[in-house]
Parts: sequence; structure tokens; C-alpha cells
Amino acid sequence: MSVIYNRVALIGLGLIASSMAHAMRRDGLAGEITGTARSAESREITRELGFCDAVFDTAAEAVNGADLVVLAVPVGAMEAVAREIAPHLKPGATVTDVGSVKRAVVEAVGPHIPEGVHFVPGHPLAGTEHSGPRSGFAELFENRWCLLLPEPGTDRAAIDALAKLWRGMGANVDEMGIDHHDLVLAVTSHCPHLIAYTMVGVADDLRRVTDSEVIKYSAAGFRDFTRIAASDPTMWRDVFLNNKEATLEILGRFTEELFALQRAIRTGDGDQLHDYFTRTRAIRRGIVEAGQDTDAPDFGRGGTR
Ligand code: NAP
Repeated sequence: MSVIYNRVALIGLGLIASSMAHAMRRDGLAGEITGTARSAESREITRELGFCDAVFDTAAEAVNGADLVVLAVPVGAMEAVAREIAPHLKPGATVTDVGSVKRAVVEAVGPHIPEGVHFVPGHPLAGTEHSGPRSGFAELFENRWCLLLPEPGTDRAAIDALAKLWRGMGANVDEMGIDHHDLVLAVTSHCPHLIAYTMVGVADDLRRVTDSEVIKYSAAGFRDFTRIAASDPTMWRDVFLNNKEATLEILGRFTEELFALQRAIRTGDGDQLHDYFTRTRAIRRGIVEAGQDTDAPDFGRGGTR
């Protein structure tokens, strides 16, 4: 594939940014990649790993001359970064972000984007529970969705170039409105994470009663919760603080359903439980059919249950 942007600046050098760098390098999508991270340690690790051509101490230096600037910091840090880079952006450049929440990021970043610079918010629906510059890998976005969320009237060529970059990195690209995004992600990602955090927290409390049995007999269901609940605390704190309305709306519905199931268990209503679980099983089939997960037992891990 040919070069899409002559110079790409990565602001934040964690899981997402380092994976983008590896993928762009693998496929020759960027002429040059610059980057910066908040800590000297992350900058040093990035130099050592060599996935950026140049690592700078400040975001202002990193964006100098960049054709694409990617904001890959926690959602709560986006505004400060946008404020810092704004005076240094090249006319005609595109600024994008990879934040997991969109309304809050658009409101935090949008006002800082100067005239003549294109802002195309984005969100790759790909991740792991690992973070930092060592955690990235080129295949992270393979066959995953990347959503682009441009405001109406955004320059079409800027959107198309960014879409081409994500496709080059292996992703499928779709466009969506920002509020719809925040609601959809509250259902598919944000609330499931909160539930996993809660379940692991409950088990941890219980562990004190039952000694180490919760860990020792950790079966597939709980083990999958612990993987999700190991995700970066800063990132997830910011997700909930910044997608308040949608997550509260979905959590309200969730607790209503949970109470209904609780009642079915108490009253011995097996039909209700069976009908409910039959309906949910079909959703899993849909996800597998859409190519978004493996049909192999235990996610193909081949381990014991
Ligand atoms: P990460 O691995 O934790 O990396 C975050 C980067 O941001 C690090 O370089 C960190 O610098 C820097 N940073 C942290 N706080 C900062 C601050 N206050 N000011 C400036 N820089 C700061 O995170 P990530 O997983 O790549 O996530 C980055 C963004 O992608 C987030 O907005 C997240 O919502 C979004 N996202 C994440 C996933 C996922 O599953 N992980 C998926 C899709 C989208 P130091 O290393 O020096 O601390």
C-alpha cells in the first residue's frame, strides 16, 4: 500500500497509538511517524522499541509539520492536549482522536481546532486489557470496526483519507453520529466493563470469606470478567465520567432486567429464565456470524472450564 500521510504525529504512546504505529509501518502508510507521551519513561521505551521515527518531549513539537495528528490519550486529557497543540498545527492538516467516548471529546477538542484544520473524530473498536507503549501490535485492528464521527460539513477528502488509513491498518470503517455512538458503546462496551468490575469486586470481597477459592477455581465465566476488569483504571474512569448520561440510561435498564431475573429465580419461574437465556444465546450466534468472535469453545483457548 502507498503512503497516505507524509507525517503522522501520535500524541500519547500507549496501546492504541503504538499499535497504529506498528500497523502503519508494516504497510508503509505513513512517510514518517513522530510521537510524544506524558512521561519520560514512556518516551524512552518508545525510542528503545523504535516504532516512531522521532520522539519529542512535548506535543507542540511532535505535531510540527504533521499531516495527521492522532490524539491517543485518556478522554479526560484530550482538552489540555488540544489546547497545547492548536497553535502549532499545520494548515490543511487533519486532527483525529481515538477516544472511547465521543460527545465529550468533540466538545473538549472541537473549539481548539483552528480554521483550515480538519477535525475527524474516530474510535477503533479494538483493544486489550494491556496498556503502555510495549502493549501495541500491528494486528490489533485486523477485521475490527473503526467508527469515524465527523460533524456534517467536514471536508470529504479529509474523511476519506482517514478512512483509507484505517482500512490500510486492517479495520472496517463506518460513519456514525456522536450521540448514537455514545449510546451504542454504553451497551456494547461501557456497561459490560462496569458489570465486570463489579463482579470481580464482589468476588474479591467474598475471597476474604472463602480464602483463595475464588481464584483457585476460577472458571471460564469469572475468568473472562477478570480479564475485562484488568483494563486501565484511568481510561475507564474517564469513560464513565464522560459518558454519564448513556451509561446511566443503560444501567437503569440493566438493573430492571436483573431484578426481573432475580424475581424469576425467587419464584421458581423456570420458563422465564429459559426464554430469556434462549433469546440471549441467539445474540452470541449473531456476533459469531458477523465475524466478530470465534465459535471455538472457550474462545479457542482450549483450556479447562
Ligand atoms: P494507554 O495505553 O494507557 O496510553 C495512554 C497514553 O496517554 C500514554 O502514552 C500516557 O502517557 C498518555 N497520557 C495519560 N494521561 C495523560 C495526560 N493526563 N496528559 C497527557 N498524556 C496522558 O491508553 P490506550 O489504551 O492507548 O487508550 C488511549 C485512548 O484510546 C483512550 O482515549 C481510550 O479511551 C481509547 N481507546 C482505548 C481502547 C482500549 O481498549 N485500550 C480501545 C479503543 C479506544 P504515559 O505513558 O507517559 O503515562
